[in-house]
Amino acid sequence: MLVTSKRLFDAALKSKFAIPATNFVDQYTLRAYIAVAERQQLPLIISFAQAHNEVMPLEEAAVLGRYYAELARVPIVLHLDHGEDVDFVKRAVDLGFTSVMIDASQDTLDENIRKTKEVIAYAHEKGVVVEAEIGHVGSGDNYENHDHSDSIYTTVEEAKHFYQATNVDSLAISIGTAHGNYVGLPKINFERLHDIAESVAVPLVLHGGSSSGDDNLSRCAGSGIVKINIFTDIMNGAVRNLIVEGKSYFDIQEQMRAGMEACLQHYYHIFKTKSVNL
Ligand SMILES: [Zn+2]
Repeated sequence: MLVTSKRLFDAALKSKFAIPATNFVDQYTLRAYIAVAERQQLPLIISFAQAHNEVMPLEEAAVLGRYYAELARVPIVLHLDHGEDVDFVKRAVDLGFTSVMIDASQDTLDENIRKTKEVIAYAHEKGVVVEAEIGHVGSGDNYENHDHSDSIYTTVEEAKHFYQATNVDSLAISIGTAHGNYVGLPKINFERLHDIAESVAVPLVLHGGSSSGDDNLSRCAGSGIVKINIFTDIMNGAVRNLIVEGKSYFDIQEQMRAGMEACLQHYYHIFKTKSVNL
């Protein structure tokens, strides 16, 4: 069933678990994710990133995402990941996404607040929830080393100020992870996470979850983080043990499905995700 994340996040905060947010880029990724969610009887956030608009246009993502979410026997959130401009985010709202992220984390704090408020006014009108980001979880060309990424840690003061100004539904914070692959394990600033979770009553989101270390992620899931984004590990899982020689197109797809499913199943366990009755 297609839902918003509102009550899922309430349950996650209360029972100290996180829900995986997995990026889909076609119907095969969607099918794999939802198959695992149904098998485990757990909620799931299926995310479509604006950056993948060239792989699959937003309109197509909305149709497929809604189709599979409505068909599912577990709660599924259709989420826009890293909406970079307000018009694109509004289109996602119009197309039936139940949750949207406006990522103005590289703007000034005031501009981030302004854009977030504009999106919230538009989205809430239609019952759609909004995620914003402050601080900045690094990305771009340099995925290899977090020390050299452009990440900026979120401060408690900024988080407080931002939440008071916007009343946003969930907030992505930067506490040491980065998008993409790492060399070694990132160092998570749990003290900062604790301080933010204590002072701001908003569900928190962790980006760049892939390969951040199972212990790290499990600890985040019990410390105020209710949504953890996983993409790189799933893509790596799809192709890691791929045998192509002598295999048919269907054989290859089957191997990729199994690899993606195993990865999501693993993270459900690490995030301690629980079933939620809506
Ligand atoms: Zn992200």
